[in-house]
Amino acid sequence: MHTTRSYIINLYDYLQDNPLTHRPRKRFGQNFLHDPVIIQRIVAAIDPQPSQRLVEIGPGQGAITLPLLEACGSLHVIELDRDLVLPLADKTRHVGELIIHQQDALRFDFSALANGFKIRTLGNLPYNISTPLLFHLIEQSEYIQDMHFMLQKEVVDRIAAAPGSGDYGRLSVMIQYYCQVEPLFRVGPGAFRPAPRVESAFLRLTPHTRAPVPVRDVSCLATLVRQAFSQRRKTLRNSLKGLLSAEQIELADTDPAARPETISLRQYAALADQLAAGRRQATEESIP
Ligand code: SAM
Repeated sequence: MHTTRSYIINLYDYLQDNPLTHRPRKRFGQNFLHDPVIIQRIVAAIDPQPSQRLVEIGPGQGAITLPLLEACGSLHVIELDRDLVLPLADKTRHVGELIIHQQDALRFDFSALANGFKIRTLGNLPYNISTPLLFHLIEQSEYIQDMHFMLQKEVVDRIAAAPGSGDYGRLSVMIQYYCQVEPLFRVGPGAFRPAPRVESAFLRLTPHTRAPVPVRDVSCLATLVRQAFSQRRKTLRNSLKGLLSAEQIELADTDPAARPETISLRQYAALADQLAAGRRQATEESIP
Protein backbone atom coordinates (compact mmCIF):
# COMPACT_ATOMS: atom_id res chain seq x y z
CA MET A 1 0.00 0.00 0.00
CA HIS A 2 2.76 2.34 1.07
CA THR A 3 4.77 1.42 -2.03
CA THR A 4 1.86 2.13 -4.37
CA ARG A 5 1.22 5.50 -2.74
CA SER A 6 4.85 6.64 -2.98
CA TYR A 7 4.97 5.45 -6.58
CA ILE A 8 1.94 7.60 -7.40
CA ILE A 9 3.50 10.62 -5.69
CA ASN A 10 6.77 10.11 -7.55
CA LEU A 11 4.99 9.74 -10.85
CA TYR A 12 3.09 12.94 -10.11
CA ASP A 13 6.39 14.73 -9.34
CA TYR A 14 7.90 13.32 -12.49
CA LEU A 15 5.04 14.58 -14.63
CA GLN A 16 5.30 18.04 -13.06
CA ASP A 17 8.94 18.20 -14.15
CA ASN A 18 8.54 16.37 -17.44
CA PRO A 19 5.12 17.11 -18.88
CA LEU A 20 4.19 14.64 -21.60
CA THR A 21 2.49 17.35 -23.56
CA HIS A 22 3.33 21.01 -23.47
CA ARG A 23 0.30 23.24 -23.04
CA PRO A 24 0.80 26.30 -25.30
CA ARG A 25 1.26 29.47 -23.28
CA LYS A 26 -0.57 32.56 -24.40
CA ARG A 27 1.81 34.91 -22.62
CA PHE A 28 4.68 33.59 -24.77
CA GLY A 29 2.63 33.92 -27.97
CA GLN A 30 2.79 30.15 -28.53
CA ASN A 31 1.01 29.23 -31.76
CA PHE A 32 2.95 26.23 -33.00
CA LEU A 33 3.22 25.50 -36.71
CA HIS A 34 2.08 22.03 -37.73
CA ASP A 35 1.30 22.28 -41.47
CA PRO A 36 4.08 20.40 -43.35
CA VAL A 37 3.42 22.28 -46.59
CA ILE A 38 3.89 25.67 -44.90
CA ILE A 39 6.99 24.43 -43.03
CA GLN A 40 8.43 23.24 -46.36
CA ARG A 41 7.72 26.64 -48.00
CA ILE A 42 9.41 28.44 -45.11
CA VAL A 43 12.53 26.27 -45.33
CA ALA A 44 12.65 26.67 -49.14
CA ALA A 45 12.37 30.47 -48.81
CA ILE A 46 15.23 30.54 -46.27
CA ASP A 47 17.34 28.13 -48.36
CA PRO A 48 19.76 27.27 -45.51
CA GLN A 49 23.36 26.34 -46.38
CA PRO A 50 25.88 24.50 -44.15
CA SER A 51 28.40 27.36 -44.04
CA GLN A 52 25.87 29.92 -42.78
CA ARG A 53 25.24 31.08 -39.20
CA LEU A 54 21.49 30.77 -38.65
CA VAL A 55 19.74 32.10 -35.54
CA GLU A 56 16.14 31.09 -34.89
CA ILE A 57 14.03 33.19 -32.52
CA GLY A 58 11.43 31.17 -30.59
CA PRO A 59 12.04 27.56 -31.80
CA GLY A 60 9.16 26.28 -29.67
CA GLN A 61 8.75 22.55 -30.29
CA GLY A 62 11.09 22.62 -33.25
CA ALA A 63 8.73 22.74 -36.25
CA ILE A 64 11.20 24.79 -38.32
CA THR A 65 14.26 24.01 -36.20
CA LEU A 66 14.51 20.34 -37.19
CA PRO A 67 14.47 20.77 -40.98
CA LEU A 68 16.86 23.72 -40.70
CA LEU A 69 19.24 21.74 -38.53
CA GLU A 70 19.12 18.86 -40.98
CA ALA A 71 20.05 21.24 -43.78
CA CYS A 72 22.88 23.12 -42.12
CA GLY A 73 24.14 20.89 -39.30
CA SER A 74 24.42 23.68 -36.73
CA LEU A 75 21.97 26.29 -35.48
CA HIS A 76 21.59 28.85 -32.70
CA VAL A 77 18.13 29.24 -31.13
CA ILE A 78 16.79 31.76 -28.60
CA GLU A 79 13.88 30.49 -26.52
CA LEU A 80 12.35 32.23 -23.49
CA ASP A 81 10.18 29.34 -22.23
CA ARG A 82 12.53 27.13 -20.22
CA ASP A 83 10.05 24.23 -20.27
CA LEU A 84 10.66 23.88 -23.99
CA VAL A 85 14.44 23.77 -23.79
CA LEU A 86 15.08 20.16 -22.64
CA PRO A 87 12.53 18.53 -24.96
CA LEU A 88 14.03 20.51 -27.85
CA ALA A 89 17.58 19.49 -26.97
CA ASP A 90 16.41 15.88 -26.74
CA LYS A 91 14.57 15.97 -30.06
CA THR A 92 17.51 17.40 -31.97
CA ARG A 93 20.29 15.42 -30.27
CA HIS A 94 20.98 13.16 -33.25
CA VAL A 95 20.26 15.71 -35.95
CA GLY A 96 23.01 18.28 -35.50
CA GLU A 97 24.55 20.86 -33.19
CA LEU A 98 21.80 22.96 -31.58
CA ILE A 99 23.05 25.84 -29.43
CA ILE A 100 20.17 26.88 -27.19
CA HIS A 101 20.15 30.34 -25.59
CA GLN A 102 17.42 30.30 -22.95
CA GLN A 103 16.90 34.08 -23.03
CA ASP A 104 14.60 36.90 -23.97
CA ALA A 105 15.20 37.74 -27.65
CA LEU A 106 14.33 41.37 -26.87
CA ARG A 107 17.51 41.61 -24.79
CA PHE A 108 19.68 39.35 -26.91
CA ASP A 109 22.94 40.72 -28.30
CA PHE A 110 22.84 39.40 -31.88
CA SER A 111 26.16 41.10 -32.73
CA ALA A 112 27.89 38.68 -30.31
CA LEU A 113 26.96 35.76 -32.59
CA ALA A 114 28.15 37.52 -35.74
CA ASN A 115 31.88 37.31 -34.85
CA GLY A 116 33.09 38.26 -38.33
CA PHE A 117 30.18 36.53 -40.14
CA LYS A 118 26.84 38.10 -40.85
CA ILE A 119 24.06 36.08 -39.25
CA ARG A 120 20.73 35.02 -40.76
CA THR A 121 17.82 35.40 -38.35
CA LEU A 122 14.43 33.78 -38.68
CA GLY A 123 11.39 32.70 -36.75
CA ASN A 124 7.70 32.28 -36.38
CA LEU A 125 7.64 35.23 -34.03
CA PRO A 126 5.52 35.59 -30.91
CA TYR A 127 3.06 38.20 -32.18
CA ASN A 128 2.86 40.05 -28.86
CA ILE A 129 6.50 41.20 -29.09
CA SER A 130 7.03 41.38 -32.86
CA THR A 131 7.20 45.17 -33.24
CA PRO A 132 9.73 45.84 -30.42
CA LEU A 133 11.71 42.82 -31.61
CA LEU A 134 11.90 44.21 -35.16
CA PHE A 135 13.18 47.53 -33.79
CA HIS A 136 15.72 45.69 -31.62
CA LEU A 137 16.93 43.78 -34.71
CA ILE A 138 17.22 46.73 -37.08
CA GLU A 139 19.43 48.47 -34.52
CA GLN A 140 21.83 45.55 -35.08
CA SER A 141 21.24 45.25 -38.82
CA GLU A 142 24.90 45.73 -39.73
CA TYR A 143 25.51 42.21 -38.34
CA ILE A 144 22.57 40.63 -40.15
CA GLN A 145 22.53 39.22 -43.68
CA ASP A 146 18.77 38.69 -43.81
CA MET A 147 15.69 37.98 -41.68
CA HIS A 148 12.75 35.67 -42.45
CA PHE A 149 9.76 36.07 -40.17
CA MET A 150 6.22 34.85 -39.77
CA LEU A 151 4.18 37.79 -38.52
CA GLN A 152 0.60 38.87 -38.23
CA LYS A 153 -0.44 39.76 -41.81
CA GLU A 154 -1.51 43.19 -40.64
CA VAL A 155 2.06 43.87 -39.40
CA VAL A 156 3.53 42.72 -42.73
CA ASP A 157 1.11 45.09 -44.53
CA ARG A 158 2.29 47.94 -42.31
CA ILE A 159 5.97 47.15 -42.88
CA ALA A 160 5.53 47.04 -46.68
CA ALA A 161 3.13 50.01 -47.02
CA ALA A 162 3.82 52.93 -49.36
CA PRO A 163 3.13 56.61 -48.59
CA GLY A 164 -0.52 57.51 -48.99
CA SER A 165 -1.81 54.17 -47.73
CA GLY A 166 -3.66 53.83 -44.42
CA ASP A 167 -1.12 51.17 -43.33
CA TYR A 168 1.86 53.52 -43.81
CA GLY A 169 3.41 54.55 -40.50
CA ARG A 170 6.47 54.50 -38.26
CA LEU A 171 7.08 50.77 -38.85
CA SER A 172 7.05 51.27 -42.68
CA VAL A 173 9.44 54.22 -42.67
CA MET A 174 11.96 52.82 -40.19
CA ILE A 175 12.06 49.25 -41.52
CA GLN A 176 12.27 50.47 -45.14
CA TYR A 177 15.14 52.79 -44.17
CA TYR A 178 17.11 49.80 -42.88
CA CYS A 179 15.91 46.93 -45.09
CA GLN A 180 14.58 45.81 -48.43
CA VAL A 181 11.11 44.38 -47.72
CA GLU A 182 9.67 41.31 -49.50
CA PRO A 183 6.33 39.89 -48.33
CA LEU A 184 6.52 36.25 -49.50
CA PHE A 185 3.23 34.42 -48.79
CA ARG A 186 0.13 34.43 -46.63
CA VAL A 187 -0.62 31.75 -44.06
CA GLY A 188 -4.08 30.95 -42.70
CA PRO A 189 -4.84 30.31 -39.01
CA GLY A 190 -5.25 26.53 -39.62
CA ALA A 191 -1.47 26.10 -40.05
CA PHE A 192 -0.98 26.73 -36.29
CA ARG A 193 -1.95 25.04 -33.03
CA PRO A 194 -3.76 26.64 -31.37
CA ALA A 195 -5.09 28.59 -34.37
CA PRO A 196 -4.68 32.35 -33.92
CA ARG A 197 -7.63 34.63 -34.63
CA VAL A 198 -5.71 36.50 -37.32
CA GLU A 199 -4.12 35.83 -40.71
CA SER A 200 -0.33 35.56 -40.86
CA ALA A 201 2.25 36.25 -43.55
CA PHE A 202 5.85 35.26 -44.14
CA LEU A 203 8.30 38.03 -44.95
CA ARG A 204 11.95 38.53 -45.93
CA LEU A 205 13.90 41.59 -44.78
CA THR A 206 17.34 42.20 -46.26
CA PRO A 207 19.35 44.97 -44.57
CA HIS A 208 20.63 47.46 -47.14
CA THR A 209 24.38 47.47 -47.62
CA ARG A 210 24.02 51.20 -48.40
CA ALA A 211 21.16 53.26 -46.99
CA PRO A 212 18.57 54.01 -49.73
CA VAL A 213 18.63 57.70 -48.73
CA PRO A 214 21.39 59.56 -46.90
CA VAL A 215 20.64 60.60 -43.32
CA ARG A 216 23.18 62.55 -41.20
CA ASP A 217 21.93 61.28 -37.86
CA VAL A 218 19.65 58.23 -37.70
CA SER A 219 18.55 59.09 -34.15
CA CYS A 220 17.03 62.33 -35.58
CA LEU A 221 15.12 60.26 -38.16
CA ALA A 222 13.81 57.96 -35.38
CA THR A 223 12.72 60.91 -33.18
CA LEU A 224 11.05 62.74 -36.02
CA VAL A 225 9.16 59.73 -37.40
CA ARG A 226 7.96 58.73 -33.92
CA GLN A 227 6.62 62.22 -33.24
CA ALA A 228 5.05 62.63 -36.71
CA PHE A 229 3.04 59.40 -36.41
CA SER A 230 2.10 59.87 -32.77
CA GLN A 231 -0.52 62.30 -34.10
CA ARG A 232 -1.12 61.09 -37.64
CA ARG A 233 -4.32 63.12 -38.17
CA LYS A 234 -2.45 66.41 -37.64
CA THR A 235 -0.50 68.35 -40.26
CA LEU A 236 3.30 68.23 -40.06
CA ARG A 237 3.34 71.88 -38.94
CA ASN A 238 1.40 70.83 -35.81
CA SER A 239 2.70 67.33 -35.19
CA LEU A 240 6.37 68.38 -35.47
CA LYS A 241 5.99 71.42 -33.19
CA GLY A 242 8.97 71.65 -30.86
CA LEU A 243 11.20 69.78 -33.36
CA LEU A 244 10.91 71.78 -36.62
CA SER A 245 9.39 75.13 -37.60
CA ALA A 246 7.24 75.52 -40.74
CA GLU A 247 10.25 77.23 -42.41
CA GLN A 248 12.52 74.25 -41.66
CA ILE A 249 9.88 71.86 -43.04
CA GLU A 250 9.79 73.92 -46.25
CA LEU A 251 13.60 73.84 -46.42
CA ALA A 252 13.22 70.03 -46.64
CA ASP A 253 11.02 70.48 -49.75
CA THR A 254 7.93 69.45 -47.80
CA ASP A 255 4.58 71.16 -47.38
CA PRO A 256 3.96 71.96 -43.66
CA ALA A 257 0.23 71.40 -44.29
CA ALA A 258 0.84 67.78 -45.42
CA ARG A 259 -0.09 64.82 -43.22
CA PRO A 260 2.52 62.32 -41.95
CA GLU A 261 1.14 59.37 -43.96
CA THR A 262 1.80 61.16 -47.28
CA ILE A 263 5.52 61.83 -46.66
CA SER A 264 8.08 59.59 -48.40
CA LEU A 265 11.21 58.13 -46.79
CA ARG A 266 13.30 60.60 -48.82
CA GLN A 267 11.32 63.53 -47.37
CA TYR A 268 11.60 62.13 -43.82
CA ALA A 269 15.37 61.88 -44.38
CA ALA A 270 15.49 65.56 -45.47
CA LEU A 271 13.38 66.57 -42.45
CA ALA A 272 15.72 64.57 -40.17
CA ASP A 273 18.70 66.47 -41.65
CA GLN A 274 16.95 69.76 -40.84
CA LEU A 275 16.47 68.56 -37.27
CA ALA A 276 20.16 67.52 -37.03
CA ALA A 277 21.30 70.89 -38.46
CA GLY A 278 19.04 72.82 -36.04
CA ARG A 279 20.38 70.84 -33.07
CA ARG A 280 23.98 71.35 -34.15
CA GLN A 281 23.43 75.09 -34.49
CA ALA A 282 21.80 75.25 -31.04
CA THR A 283 24.78 73.40 -29.51
CA GLU A 284 27.28 75.74 -31.21
CA GLU A 285 25.39 78.81 -30.04
CA SER A 286 25.32 77.54 -26.45
CA ILE A 287 29.15 77.23 -26.36
CA PRO A 288 30.50 80.55 -24.98
N1 SAM B 1 8.91 28.18 -33.98
C1 SAM B 1 7.83 27.46 -33.34
C2 SAM B 1 6.79 27.06 -34.37
O1 SAM B 1 6.82 27.65 -35.47
O2 SAM B 1 6.00 26.19 -34.09
C3 SAM B 1 7.17 28.29 -32.22
C4 SAM B 1 6.61 29.62 -32.64
S1 SAM B 1 5.62 30.40 -31.39
C5 SAM B 1 4.65 31.49 -32.41
C6 SAM B 1 6.73 31.59 -30.66
C7 SAM B 1 7.89 31.03 -29.83
O3 SAM B 1 8.64 32.12 -29.28
C8 SAM B 1 7.46 30.20 -28.64
O4 SAM B 1 8.24 29.05 -28.56
C9 SAM B 1 7.72 31.10 -27.42
O5 SAM B 1 7.98 30.40 -26.22
C10 SAM B 1 8.92 31.89 -27.89
N2 SAM B 1 9.07 33.22 -27.27
C11 SAM B 1 8.09 34.04 -26.80
N3 SAM B 1 8.61 35.18 -26.34
C12 SAM B 1 9.96 35.10 -26.53
C13 SAM B 1 11.05 35.97 -26.26
N4 SAM B 1 10.86 37.16 -25.71
N5 SAM B 1 12.30 35.56 -26.58
C14 SAM B 1 12.51 34.32 -27.13
N6 SAM B 1 11.51 33.46 -27.42
C15 SAM B 1 10.26 33.84 -27.12
